[in-house]
Amino acid sequence: GNLLEVKGLKKYYPVQKGFLNSTAGYVKAVDDISFSIRRGETFGLVGESGCGKSTAGRSLLRLMEPTAGEILFEGRDITKLSAGELRKQRREMQMVFQDPFSSLDPRHTVERILEEPMIVHRTGNARERRAAVDKLADVVGLAKSQLQRYPHQFSGGQRQRIGIARALALQPKLIVADEPVSALDVSIQSQVINLMQDLQHEFGLTYLFIAHDLSVVKHICDRVAVMYLGRIIEITDKHSLYAHP
Ligand code: ADP
Ligand code: ADP
Repeated sequence: GNLLEVKGLKKYYPVQKGFLNSTAGYVKAVDDISFSIRRGETFGLVGESGCGKSTAGRSLLRLMEPTAGEILFEGRDITKLSAGELRKQRREMQMVFQDPFSSLDPRHTVERILEEPMIVHRTGNARERRAAVDKLADVVGLAKSQLQRYPHQFSGGQRQRIGIARALALQPKLIVADEPVSALDVSIQSQVINLMQDLQHEFGLTYLFIAHDLSVVKHICDRVAVMYLGRIIEITDKHSLYAHP
């Protein structure tokens, strides 16, 4: 079955007339896209920079308000949720960002960063949260001794492990990963991809994996949607992808 169904999603940004040759006063960043993601699969969203991938990913988590469309999560349209309902829904859908450095608060220790989502969502008591943090560190391969360090004391790959651990803190079902390895050295990329695949199996996760190049996507995705100028121009499965060089 489908975990997520996106129907007719649009996101237009208001801009000044004349900006980016806009005559309309808005940019059609996402212009009527539809797709479904099956439970447990990794669904890729690819396309060149500026085609609307990030906007689509953020809109479907309602990190920004879509202009139009339905977003059915386990059959429930989350565009219709009240603020309170949406806050609960957010536990189930988390995001991993491209740049793990700018998305981790530099003033907080890793322990605090991993505990934060549980504090915000009032999950468990202090002792339970601490135990959960230890478990999270363990599953992404961070040593306990590293929990008292700050983000700048880690390499890019380690910071992305922290970002992934934070995304897992509330035991989500869906993770939207927006170019999660694009900022990393090529030698580190496969480690992070392998980790994401291991975690997917261990926790039964479903991924929307955003990337601008096909090489990474080929390794991890079951199906791929290709975006161009705000639209999906093709949805293809892994086996057809391999036919392309
Ligand atoms: P990406 O790596 O996703 O392409 P960008 O460097 O294009 O990111 O954008 C960085 C930030 O600037 C994002 O928050 C994005 O929403 C915003 N942004 C991108 N394009 C525009 C634009 N034309 N007008 C205003 N903000 C923009
Ligand atoms: P991608 O993730 O594929 O690089 P984005 O979703 O970042 O694409 O951007 C899609 C389009 O929307 C681009 O034309 C970008 O310049 C524009 N855009 C992104 N963020 C903003 C914003 N905050 N305001 C105006 N335009 C934006």
